[in-house]
Formats: sequence, structure tokens, C-alpha cells
Amino acid sequence: SSEKKLHYSITLYGPENRLLIVRDNTRIHQLEQMTKDFVANVSHELRTPLTVITGYIETLSDNISLLPAPPIPVMPRALDQMQSQAIRMANTIEDLLILSKLETADSQQDLMPVSIAPLLESVANDARSFSGNRNHNITIDCKTDTKILGNSKELQSAISNIVFNAVKYTPDNGNIRLKWNVELNNGYLSVKDDGIGMEPQHIPRLTERFYRIDRSRHASTGGTGLGLAIVKHVLLRHDATLLVKSRPGRGSSFTCQFPQSRLLREAA
Ligand code: ADP
Repeated sequence: SSEKKLHYSITLYGPENRLLIVRDNTRIHQLEQMTKDFVANVSHELRTPLTVITGYIETLSDNISLLPAPPIPVMPRALDQMQSQAIRMANTIEDLLILSKLETADSQQDLMPVSIAPLLESVANDARSFSGNRNHNITIDCKTDTKILGNSKELQSAISNIVFNAVKYTPDNGNIRLKWNVELNNGYLSVKDDGIGMEPQHIPRLTERFYRIDRSRHASTGGTGLGLAIVKHVLLRHDATLLVKSRPGRGSSFTCQFPQSRLLREAA
């Protein structure tokens, strides 16, 4: 039909590029779309039953002292486990829904000038509460307040993900620095920590869904493994790229590079 979109790739080969290969990717594209729709639908379907389960677990936990005797000794611990696992599942579902929305929503919608300085302030404050008595030293270096043409909520969620990771993967009392600077017309937003870092072979795979460096590390920090995939998609929608540097035991830096076309105006 006239509505149907074709997806194909063209490659030139051989001496003087005399061989032309046209590959029809329509079917692959359709399959990718079906997978995305499927993930979005499953996430939606799981959300409601999980809300009901979590609600009842909470009711039971709140009223455990009223349960009939003889009490079951493992009951409080079992309820606790059920609650934390249900929360983990809910977080994964929410992140999957955020991801599928990022993949399908029009990236030109809701564009506005987003001021960097207040954004960094707000994320740093959230990260300080998240750190709590782990007492990280979270500082901001933002000498020129630029505005980025983008989606404020999406940018906030991307930067939060990076900064909260810095808190999760940096030992207590560690340093985390949020920095904004404009250099050679590009804008650089970087988050630097002196935490546990990682071996270089992990870096190219960090933004894959559910990629995590080791499972035990993951379980104790309670992440979903989707945070950096969300970051990648948000940056893609802002024509920006993620640059990662890290050394085991020394720390990591995650830098978002924004092109000039996205930077609006610099206050003197
Ligand atoms: P998670 O929910 O597991 O944190 P992410 O997608 O946000 O998932 O990150 C993927 C993996 O990258 C993490 O599991 C962690 O191993 C590693 N990682 C992310 N940020 C840092 C950091 N600042 N320092 C060390 N490792 C990190």
C-alpha cells in the first residue's frame, strides 16, 4: 500500500564502485518493530498485577502483629523479601516503558530551551539525598550557564541515571564532580567519580540493555541494568554522544557531548 515504508541499504563495491548492491531491510525493520511493540505490551500488562501484589504485601507488612497466632517465624523476613523483589520488578517495568517511549515518541516534540545550571543543581541535590549517610562529596563546576534545545524531563532523567550510578559505584565519602563546559563549539556535560571504575573491555557494551559488569555487584546496588540504555536513547534524541573513560579502582567519567546546533545562548 502507499502507507508502507520501505527500508533498504545501498552499498557500492569493486573498482570505481561499479558494483551496486541494494539490500531490502523491510522485513528486518518489521521484526524489530514487532519486538519493540511486544516489550512495550508485556511491560504494560505486568504493571497492573504487580501493583495489586505490592499493595497486598504492604497491607500484610503493616498489620503483621495482628496476624493470628501461632506466628510463622519466617513471615516478616518473607514479606520483606517479597516487597524488595516486587519493587525491583516494578523498577524494571518502569524503565522498560521509559525506553520504549523513547524509541517511539517524536523527538521533535516538547523541545524547549533547557538551562543547564539549575538542572545540575537539582540532580546534585537528589543525588545527595540518595547518598544519604554514605556521605559522598558531590560538587558542581558550571561557569557558563548555557541552554540546550531539548526535552527537560528526558535530559534530567539521563543525567540522574549517570550521577546516581556514580553514587552507587563509588565507596562512601568518595568524590563526584558534575561539570559543564563549552569547548570548540561543543557542549560537554561530564560526571566524574573516584569510585570502583571498570576494565576497558566493558566500556563499549555499557549502554546495552541489561548489561552489567558483575551480577553480585548489581544485586546489592539494586539497579535495573537499563539506566545507561536510557541515557543512550535520550542522548541520541538530542544529537549528543556519550564518552566513557574509566580505570579499575581509580574511577570513571561519563561525558555527554552536545553539538553546537543544540546550544542556544551563553550568558556572559
Ligand atoms: P545498573 O542499573 O546496573 O546500574 P546501568 O545501565 O546504569 O545499570 O549501568 C550498567 C553497568 O555499568 C552497571 O551495572 C555497572 O556495572 C557499570 N557502571 C555504570 N556506571 C558506573 C560507574 N560510575 N562506575 C563504575 N561502574 C559503573
